[in-house]
Amino acid sequence: MSLEEHASVCTFDCPDTCSLTVTVDDGRITKVRGSEAMPFTDGVICTKVARDMTAFVHGPQRILHPLRRVGAKGSGQFERISWDAALDEIHARVGEIIHRWGPQAVAPFNYAGPHGLLAYDSMSLRFFHRLGASVVYRRGLCGGVRSEAWAGTYGAVSGVPPEFAEHAKLNVVWGNNATVANLHLVRCIRRAKRKGGRLVVIDPLRTKIAEQADLHLAILPGTDVLLAWSLAAELERMGAFDNAFIAAHVLGLDEFMARARQWPAARAAAVCGVSESQILTLASWLAEADPLVLTPGNGLERGRNGGSGIRAAIALPALLGKFGRGSGISIAAGNAFPKTLAKLQRPDLVPQGTRTLDLVDFGRHLVEDDLDPPLRALFIYNHNPIVVHPDQNRMRRGLARDDIFSVGIEVAMTESMAHCDIVLPAATHFEYPDLYASYGHQWLQRAEPVIPPLGESLPNTEIFRRLAARFGFDEPCFKASDADLMDEAVDSADPRLDGVRPSQISTDTAVAMMAPDGKPPVLFENVFPATPSGKVELKSEALATRWGADALFAEWRERAAEAAYPLMLISPASDKRISSTLGSIGASRKAPPLMMHPADAASRGLTTGDVKVWNERGEVILPLQVTEKVPPGVVASEKGAWLSTSPTGQTISALVSADARADIALGACFNDTRVEVTAA
Ligand code: SF4
Repeated sequence: MSLEEHASVCTFDCPDTCSLTVTVDDGRITKVRGSEAMPFTDGVICTKVARDMTAFVHGPQRILHPLRRVGAKGSGQFERISWDAALDEIHARVGEIIHRWGPQAVAPFNYAGPHGLLAYDSMSLRFFHRLGASVVYRRGLCGGVRSEAWAGTYGAVSGVPPEFAEHAKLNVVWGNNATVANLHLVRCIRRAKRKGGRLVVIDPLRTKIAEQADLHLAILPGTDVLLAWSLAAELERMGAFDNAFIAAHVLGLDEFMARARQWPAARAAAVCGVSESQILTLASWLAEADPLVLTPGNGLERGRNGGSGIRAAIALPALLGKFGRGSGISIAAGNAFPKTLAKLQRPDLVPQGTRTLDLVDFGRHLVEDDLDPPLRALFIYNHNPIVVHPDQNRMRRGLARDDIFSVGIEVAMTESMAHCDIVLPAATHFEYPDLYASYGHQWLQRAEPVIPPLGESLPNTEIFRRLAARFGFDEPCFKASDADLMDEAVDSADPRLDGVRPSQISTDTAVAMMAPDGKPPVLFENVFPATPSGKVELKSEALATRWGADALFAEWRERAAEAAYPLMLISPASDKRISSTLGSIGASRKAPPLMMHPADAASRGLTTGDVKVWNERGEVILPLQVTEKVPPGVVASEKGAWLSTSPTGQTISALVSADARADIALGACFNDTRVEVTAA
C-alpha cells in the first residue's frame, strides 16, 4: 500500500477555487480536504467536495473508454470502441457534414464544467477555430449580465478582493446565496460581524446567509433596480451623497436620479415586496457605513431587468463616494489576472465572415433548423445542456434528432451524453495539470495531476490534440504541450509572477494578483475606472452600442401578471451539486423540494407530498416544502437536478423560457419564470 498526499485545486464552477490536499492510496483518491496553499480558502472546503470526490473520480458513472451509441438517442445504450475507431468515425461523419453544409454546420457546445484555463477552452478552441466551425457566444447562460453591467459602469477592472468583507462595518450581500455558492465570503463576513460589523442580505429566498443577517430584504425577483433606485432617492434626500466625488467621477447622475426619484421608498416597497422601513433602514446604514463592502452575486442578473438591477446596485457606492479605505465592491475578480486568451485560444484562426451563435439559442436552432447552414454536428464538452439550459424539453427534442451528429466529451455519463453518437472519456481535474484564475478571488494557482487518467480517459487538451491531428491540422499550435499552453494562457512577463513561467508556478502556493503598487486593487486608490470617459458611467454609450439603445441607462421593464401562472419560480444553487456536476452522486439523486409560502400552499389546499409545477413549457413533479423561507407569490427549487430525479423526466429548467432575455448580454432569465402548482 502507498499512501501519498498531493496539492491540487478545485476546478468546479464556483468562485472560491479552493486549494486542496488530496490523499491517494494505491492510485485511488480516498480523501480530499482543504489546504493552506491559498490564503483565502485557507484549509476549508465545502462538504460536497470533501465528501464526494472519491465517487466523482472512481464511481460507476465515470466514463472510462470511448463509446459508440447503439440504441436510440437518450437510451444510454453504447458499445465500447477504440480511440482510433472513435476518431476515425468523428472525422468521417464531420467530414461528410462539412462537405455538404460547410464547416459552420459544426459547433462547439460547451460551457463551464471545469474552470482551469486549459480544460475550459484552450486546444479545443484552436481546433474549432481552425476547422471554421461556428463561433459561440456563451456568456448569456450565466455571468455575462453581471460582468457586462460592471464593465459598462466601471470598465474591465477588478473590484476589491473578497477578503475586504472581513473589515467592513457593513457588508451588503445582494443576490448571492453565499453559504452555498461563495462559502469563504461567509467566513470573512462572520469575522466582520464578530468585530461589530453589520450584514444586510437582499434575496427573495431566506438563505442561510440571510438568516445570519441583521437585515434581510426578501425582495420579489427582478425588482432589484427599483430597490436600488429607492435607496438612491432616499440617500439624496438624506444629504448623504458625496457631491465632490460625484462631480469628479460620475457620469450620467441627472438621468439616473430622474429615474430614481420616481421610486420613493413607499412606492418601491409596494412593488419590491419589502417594507418601507426596511428600505429606510438600509439607506441610513449605507450612509453611515465606513467601510462598506457590496458583494453582488449572480442571482439578480437572471431576469429581464438583470443588467439594470446590477447597474443600479453598484451605482450606490459611487453616489456615496465609498471607495478606498476598505470600502469597495467585490466583483469581477477575473479582471485581476494577466490572462492572454488570444494566444491561448487563437481567434486569429477563425475564417473571416464566420458567424457567431448564441449558446442559449441552441435548443431553438436544433429544433427549428432556423440557420443557414443548419447545425449538423455538435461537440458537447464541459457542459450538460439538457439539465442546465432553459427550455429543457426543446433542447431534448433537438439533441434527439438522428440527423444531427453529436460528439460528447465528459467525465460522467450524463443525460446529455446519452444523446450523443460518440462519447469520449475525459479525465478529471485530478488527472491533468492546469492553471487556475478564479472568478471569485485574486489568487493565481497551478495544479499537477495527482493520479494518472483513469481507464482510457484523456485531458481535454490531449483529446483536441488528437482530433486536430486526425483532421490533418499540423501547425505548431496543435502540438503545444500542456506546459506550453499554460505559458500562453498568462503573460509570463507580468511582474507579479516574479520571473516564474506560468507552467512553473509552485503547486504549494498561490500568486497574489496585486495592483502595480503591490497592494490589493482598490478603485480610486490604485485602480481607476476603465470606461471610455474614465468615470463611473451611469450612462453607458458602450452598453448601448453593444446591447441596444435601451441599455444606455438602467431601466425598469415591468412584467404583466399572468392569471394562468401566478407564481414566480426561482432556482437557487444547491449545496449538493455545482450546477449539475455531481448530480448522480449521493444525496443529489433525490428530487429537490419545491419551497412554497404557507399562504400560497393554503390557497391551493396543499400541505405535503408531491406537487406538479407547470406552465406552457413543461411539468415537473417535486416534493412540497411549505416554508416561510420564500415570500408569498414566489416558489423556489434548487437548480441542476438530473432528469432521473423526476417522475416526469423533466426538471425545473423545463419551465424556463430560452427566448426571454435580460436587458443586456443576452442573459438567460432563469429567475423570471411564471408557474402554477397543483397536487400531483
Ligand atoms: S466547490 Fe467551491 S467551495 Fe467547494 S471545494 Fe470547490 S471551490 Fe471550494
